[in-house]
Amino acid sequence: MRGSSPRMTAKNHQSPPYISKMRPQDILMPVPAGLCCKPGGFHIDPVRPVERAVITHGHSDHARPGHGAVLATQETLDMMRLRYGDNFAGSTQAIGYGEEIKLGDVTIKFHPAGHVLGSAQIAVSCKDICIVASGDYKDAPDPTCVPFEVVTCDVFITEATFGLPVFRHGDAAVEVKKLLASVALFPERAHLVGAYSLGKAQRVIALLRAAGYDAPIYLHGAMEKITRYYESRGVKLGELRMVKGVKKADLAGTITLAPPSATSDVWTRRFPDPVTAFASGWMRVRARARQGGVELPLVISDHADWDGLTSTIDATGAREIWVTHGQEDALVHWCKTKGLAARPLDLVGYGDEDEGEAPVAEAEA
Ligand SMILES: [Zn+2]
Ligand SMILES: [Zn+2]
Repeated sequence: MRGSSPRMTAKNHQSPPYISKMRPQDILMPVPAGLCCKPGGFHIDPVRPVERAVITHGHSDHARPGHGAVLATQETLDMMRLRYGDNFAGSTQAIGYGEEIKLGDVTIKFHPAGHVLGSAQIAVSCKDICIVASGDYKDAPDPTCVPFEVVTCDVFITEATFGLPVFRHGDAAVEVKKLLASVALFPERAHLVGAYSLGKAQRVIALLRAAGYDAPIYLHGAMEKITRYYESRGVKLGELRMVKGVKKADLAGTITLAPPSATSDVWTRRFPDPVTAFASGWMRVRARARQGGVELPLVISDHADWDGLTSTIDATGAREIWVTHGQEDALVHWCKTKGLAARPLDLVGYGDEDEGEAPVAEAEA
């Protein structure tokens, strides 16, 4: 083999022009169904049914039913099964973090994205180009999932949900202390915390436990399955109770987690004089909290904030940045001032679940 390497080099010099001209957009390209990898024969997080899907995480805008074959982490596959039933895909294959698989002419490797349990960035390598599709990610600590890993690459595909300098999330532990201070201040009232049922709710519970809160935490029925699933994967959440059937008076001084839509409907009448909280990165915007009738806004996000986005872009060493679902313009501009090639990817169909959507619309729905 060693003897053959000079010849290989010589051969590379004479290789047909298309090989040296391989561009990132020949490897991954935005199409209506999502990000298409033609040389690998798959789509990443497709929004329409495709033959072969590679999926970053379980939020419903990324993980949809009806694909032929699905490749994802075990957790993402399990969450899809919980939500869509056993027949959510023709076939499935689980892949772990750090594991590599060859698909067609490309190699893909999964890395933790720190967004929710099982969330992954997908590195797609072809010849000497590596593109990382990060899905949704955050670089902030989260006791309920494996921390975000920086992956060195040539092209980094980043989300931009909070892609404006005004978005700085701060420390989630401090926000949880605000909630506990309010519970201490109003022992006769119930506290209702609106939180997305996949990821955010479990993170808030884990943060409450880390802050020393050890009373039972109550759950809206819609959160039971996914929360129990987190526990089955070893995430410790302490004593959880279903709120259903509990007497109104017994809910004084307690904390209940509920989907954001439930915190503004008749369902809240079962609670004594509830204080409505909402855990979201959007709570940084005061007007949003007010419009949504949120008394206690908690700035807790599962997406990177402006500093997280820009420092992550820096850390990947990528010379080219593709920006998707969110506030692309400011981030593209920031990249260009840093001398990086950058462009928005016009992908449609993301942000239906979790914080991609403004909370007001969700609360009114
Ligand atoms: Zn997500
Ligand atoms: Zn998303």
